[in-house]
Amino acid sequence: MKATRTVEIKMQSGVVILDIEVTRELREEIAYADGYNIPMGKKVHESMKITILHNGKKVDDTNWMPAVIRTVEKKSYPATAYAILGGKVILTEGNYNLVTEAINAATAEVENAITADTEYADVKASEIAKKAIGEANLRAAEAHYTEQLKNGLCPKCGTYCYGDCTA
Ligand SMILES: [Zn+2]
Repeated sequence: MKATRTVEIKMQSGVVILDIEVTRELREEIAYADGYNIPMGKKVHESMKITILHNGKKVDDTNWMPAVIRTVEKKSYPATAYAILGGKVILTEGNYNLVTEAINAATAEVENAITADTEYADVKASEIAKKAIGEANLRAAEAHYTEQLKNGLCPKCGTYCYGDCTA
């Protein structure tokens, strides 16, 4: 499922068109083994892509939101510059707001539409659950290791050598 928005910006050098596409879909994941492919089941795919056209010609594309220029970098840009898109397009604050509003609107539209897809919801819920279990296991392993160190485990050799490994 995709949602799109187009933002047109008039600049001194001409017209910049930003074609924004936000995607939410299930994709068949394939693992590539020696000589054969192993289907790994469906995985959630979430992406945002902006294709940048200058006077009708594609000049760049990016998967990143426009980045606000940091104060320390300001002096290398024109005074009205507020953000950079895809490393090539400099946006004023007003245009930055237009672009982020368009991205947010496309994201809200596709997120809203995808809620009707029960298979997507199931796969996404199971990915979130797996991630939570993975994080819980990691925290438990870290807590266990901290406890082991307290009990005298040597961080150098990973055994209870009580200093023998560096003796
Ligand atoms: Zn040791």
